[in-house]
Amino acid sequence: MEINEELQILRHSTSHIMAQAVQNLFPNAKLAIGPAIENGFYYDFDIEGTTLNEDNLKDIEKEMRRLVEQNLTFEKYIIPDVQKQIDEFKAQGEIYKAELLEEHRNDNPTLYLTKDKDGNVLFNDLCAGPHLESTKKIRAFKLLSVAGAYWRGSEKNKMLQRIYATAFLTKEELNEYLTMLEEAKKRDHRKLGAALDLFSVRDEIGAGLVLWHPNLAVVREEIENYWRQEHRKRGYVIVNTPQIAKSKLWELSGHIDHYRENMFFIQKENEEDDQYIVKPMNCPFHILIYQANRHSYRSLPLRMAELGTVYRKEKSGALAGLTRVQGFTQDDAHIFCTPEQLVDEINAIIDFVADTMDIFGMKFEVELSTRPESYVGELKNWELAEAGLKEAMDRRGMKYEINEGDGAFYGPKIDFKVKDAIGRTWQCATIQLDFNLPERFDIKYQDKDGQLKTPVMLHRVIFGSMERFHGILIEHYAGAFPTWLAPYQVAIVPIADRHADEAAKIANELKNKGVRALLDDRSESMNYKIRENLQQKKIPYVLVVGDKEIEDKTVAIRARGRGQIGTKAIEEFTNALLDEIKTKGKTIVE
Ligand SMILES: [Zn+2]
Ligand SMILES: [Zn+2]
Repeated sequence: MEINEELQILRHSTSHIMAQAVQNLFPNAKLAIGPAIENGFYYDFDIEGTTLNEDNLKDIEKEMRRLVEQNLTFEKYIIPDVQKQIDEFKAQGEIYKAELLEEHRNDNPTLYLTKDKDGNVLFNDLCAGPHLESTKKIRAFKLLSVAGAYWRGSEKNKMLQRIYATAFLTKEELNEYLTMLEEAKKRDHRKLGAALDLFSVRDEIGAGLVLWHPNLAVVREEIENYWRQEHRKRGYVIVNTPQIAKSKLWELSGHIDHYRENMFFIQKENEEDDQYIVKPMNCPFHILIYQANRHSYRSLPLRMAELGTVYRKEKSGALAGLTRVQGFTQDDAHIFCTPEQLVDEINAIIDFVADTMDIFGMKFEVELSTRPESYVGELKNWELAEAGLKEAMDRRGMKYEINEGDGAFYGPKIDFKVKDAIGRTWQCATIQLDFNLPERFDIKYQDKDGQLKTPVMLHRVIFGSMERFHGILIEHYAGAFPTWLAPYQVAIVPIADRHADEAAKIANELKNKGVRALLDDRSESMNYKIRENLQQKKIPYVLVVGDKEIEDKTVAIRARGRGQIGTKAIEEFTNALLDEIKTKGKTIVE
């Protein structure tokens, strides 16, 4: 999405002030680059002998404030003699600027001069701009962190120090953003993943390969149950396919040529053995299932779904938690249909995404990426498909952005970006049209006129991958899963030892009805157990059982985040709880 240009210019201009401040404090600092990025900006420095720490960041921020208060001006300066300027940079030790200028020597390169009110040049930086006129608008900024970053992103180059920072037009917006960052830190799924015993990643296994612990496997089981049920309801068939396949299949699909560096090859024992490859995608298998039968226009659309686990090699530096992994399960589906069926199929998928995200209380934004310059397939099919995607969205009055020319070479696509509880957006569902694979595998259907024709193929995911979606869910709920997903739904706490048998009986009754109940008969104090179950383990309900409750056949109920909600007959509570689970939270125990 386009970031507001004014904000970009502000952030980028602030990055120069940061560079100026760094050089004032560390005169040997060499400057690399300092662009605006999605939520702020950064600048890369090479500072011999200094590893920047928190205190340095504070000092740099203070120096920046001192500079900004002088109301400096930014002035563009066309370099009259490029070679002379390169030599000057080299003499100053500014090797990165020299290298960049060398590359841009024929682009009418410019410097930006920072001047004080008397017109003295205090600082210059190589840059094409644009910038603010002066530092007057730079009021709300904050340095956030420092990290290593290779010059030009290549491991072959020197590791530089990158300061991440942000700036906003107003203090209010800055504070709002910083509050959101704090909240995001608290919700970090890697932290919560350890605290709530949800998942782990081990060096012995490899980066980006996730162990799902029982607590998160429960959440996944519920989500998979929902997923299967909904697919059946919406006319999908569900399939299973192998984890590996001969290289022949990946040659036919084109993956060997276009996707090679992301694929895991299985070591051959002998020369004459076939080369096997771990699957990076499910699509070719689904096409082969399509091919196993003859199809006519009457048997289409064929909607084929699989929770398919795939493996894709990634640079280990980019791997983290559940959101950036090498092994993951896609909630994948491929739809084979006639061109006439396309709009209805797309509409049905959008419904599916909307209904699903609604359950999690997530709204979404949509982007449409259209035909790039080089593409496969016929132009008229592209036009038909793009018009179809637009029609499907227009028909439901959906707003969307168009990324002109940003589609894959084999088809246009719709991306869904869901918004979580603290307003961050995450890429989840996609609908991707494909004019390439049906041709490559030469799949056909017999049309009304008796002719054999190539079906339209759609790739689609709703969650994206199970790993990523669960990472998003953990952060969205801050680890406090709604009752239908919670690893334990109820904890039963006896007040004293003599109430333990009755508490166990209640727990068993709940378990028999399919409720995930935990009997907490440890010899800790009642209040401690209530607190721990509700707040630390984030269990939605705690039932307290004592003399009075046993006599009346009731339970005293406490709810996570709501405190005491009174005493109810056991049966009444159980029914209300089962309703809450069944309706996925549309009704709650009150
Ligand atoms: Zn600049
Ligand atoms: Zn696919």
